[in-house]
Amino acid sequence: MSLDASRIEPRPERLTAHESRQRLEHARNTRLTQLRALPESGQADDQLMSAQKAAIERVLKEIEEAFARIEQGTYGTCLGCGKPVPGERLEILPYTRYCVACQRRAAA
Ligand SMILES: [Zn+2]
Repeated sequence: MSLDASRIEPRPERLTAHESRQRLEHARNTRLTQLRALPESGQADDQLMSAQKAAIERVLKEIEEAFARIEQGTYGTCLGCGKPVPGERLEILPYTRYCVACQRRAAA
């Protein structure tokens, strides 16, 4: 019996599908909690509430789309330029479709 130390590889630059799913699930749970924490409609500032609700639901939809991209094997690839989205960006925004440069271009 021997431990083959040469098999220990450096941490890959890109997240594994498993890690990506975990991050997306965490992001989804956070949004679902936020959604449940919103007061019932009819209270206080209704317009602000529905704007918040719509924003959270939009992110939830993006998260679902990101799950689909993991299945398709396109997760982590920028839809704008086709390059890999940097891992540190995916840590903050696991459901993002664009790298920083393309996101800026899309928002402009
Ligand atoms: Zn890009």
